[in-house]
Amino acid sequence: MFKSFKEKLSGFKDSLSTKIREKTTAVKPVNASPAKEGAAASQPEAIQPTAKPTNEGTKPEPKISFAQKARALIFEQEVILSEKDLTNPLWELEMALLESDVALPVAEEVVKAVKEELVGHKKKIGADTGDIAEGALKSALLKVLSKNSFDFDEFVRDREKPTKILFVGVNGTGKTTSIAKVARYLKDRGYSVVLAAGDTFRAGAIEQIEIHAQKLDLKLIKHKTGGDPAAVIFDAVEYAKAHNKDVVLADTAGRLHTNINLMDQMRKIVRVTDPDMLIFVDEAIAGNDAVERARLFNEAVPIDGTILTKTDADAKGGSAISIAYITGKPVLFLGVGQDYPDLVKFDANWLVDRLMG
Ligand code: GDP
Repeated sequence: MFKSFKEKLSGFKDSLSTKIREKTTAVKPVNASPAKEGAAASQPEAIQPTAKPTNEGTKPEPKISFAQKARALIFEQEVILSEKDLTNPLWELEMALLESDVALPVAEEVVKAVKEELVGHKKKIGADTGDIAEGALKSALLKVLSKNSFDFDEFVRDREKPTKILFVGVNGTGKTTSIAKVARYLKDRGYSVVLAAGDTFRAGAIEQIEIHAQKLDLKLIKHKTGGDPAAVIFDAVEYAKAHNKDVVLADTAGRLHTNINLMDQMRKIVRVTDPDMLIFVDEAIAGNDAVERARLFNEAVPIDGTILTKTDADAKGGSAISIAYITGKPVLFLGVGQDYPDLVKFDANWLVDRLMG
């Protein structure tokens, strides 16, 4: 998961580590013992006076290389980075984010947050200078990803029953599988669920959702292929009302944002069925394309949130980072595999931990 994202970040980490080393070793005469280093703080590019000497023993100094001394020197010291120090590292970071399919405004926001985190703040240098880069990027990503937080469980709990949830998206991205996963998620939490086979357009779509309904032991409301999807969803809601069911999960035909007829039909379905929640489904592996589709669907029929599937197969991470920011709507769940339990409720900390590895 997110392998290429992690690899691409190495340029940023290396560049920042090099800069930190330059700044901290600049104060060190080659043959001075570390005990005297505090006195050298007046030199340009100096480490801060809070630097703690690490070796105060009186024994003759064993022969150690410059690199070893430098490492010992910067251990447990502090550094303050200027905007100029960050020019190269931040450029590396922005390139890495863009190459990972992070949308441009989101990459800029992350870079800005990293800069704010680093410029002018005292940073402790541990044994690994890469920690500073990791820490700053982690909080920047968390900041960007936490902008649209939303609790799906609370929403379902508090909403009038039956709660109507409509799923839209393009074909093949995992929409039907995600409906089944959400059905199982809700069932596990004690809700009764009805499925509506609202994809009356694609041959085989009704059979596909029927298989999920059988496996999950759920009632499915269906009409014939070619029928009116809004009528199917209406019937499912009537069934739910008559049988005191909690939630209706409605499929719709997959459509391309460029197919004006189908997009118009989707608007009509939304108008007629008046869902409590409209969920856009797309696949993380589509990267920027998924983000762009989310933006266009959101313009056509305001979505309430996204399920991003196939994050288990996504090396880049860009769509997971960008999609909520670009649509202004939360990511609700991440699909992390093909089985029903492979659905993770979105949690910025969980995602950042996986992105940073
Ligand atoms: P739909 O056409 O959008 O309804 O897509 P489907 O639900 O039929 O899914 C298309 C394919 O993607 C199927 O083979 C699913 O098993 C697979 N799929 C769905 N979600 C995930 C996921 O989160 N991870 C992986 N690896 N595969 C998924």
